[in-house]
Amino acid sequence: MSAAPSETPSGCAPRTAYVLDRNDRIAAVTADWDSFALRNGGPGACAAHVVGAPLAQAISGDPVRMFMTAILMRVRASGEAESVPYRCDSDTLRRWYVMTLTPLTDGAVRVEHALEREEPGGATVRIRPAARGARGRRRCSICCRLESDAGWVDPFDAGRDGDFRVIHTVCGDCREAPMRAWRARHGPAAPPA
Ligand SMILES: [Zn+2]
Repeated sequence: MSAAPSETPSGCAPRTAYVLDRNDRIAAVTADWDSFALRNGGPGACAAHVVGAPLAQAISGDPVRMFMTAILMRVRASGEAESVPYRCDSDTLRRWYVMTLTPLTDGAVRVEHALEREEPGGATVRIRPAARGARGRRRCSICCRLESDAGWVDPFDAGRDGDFRVIHTVCGDCREAPMRAWRARHGPAAPPA
């Protein structure tokens, strides 16, 4: 993908990184960062970032902010890096990313987002945020699924075009996944608080 600042809906960069200071402010970004204008959709990869700005400003939805805060707290307390798989789809592509959070000195954390693979979704699915106070489908910012009567569904699975107004949240599966991964590494003990 070109690094042109994108007005395109597929504006997630293949690889980006930034460093958060101990107060979760963006302290530094990769050298090519300025050429990106990342769009909303992921837990951080897909939002515009500005050095000095709080990370929270770049994340849509309280549940998504809480999701990131929990991981950041654990990474700092444990001193261990964590990787979080997520989706950052465009209108026509399913795209799988991994976000890796690595603790540095003085409470800083390096956050890297890397594209692992992508494939055509087989339809055009437009996702736009619902207007403030308006109704919208809940959409998980981590797996890109939409909540429906049948549970959480991948909008490409329907095989037809769609246009959705959404409210950003984190589904139960994605909320629990980082702790499941922690237990897989460490057993049932809780991580350091
Ligand atoms: Zn999810």
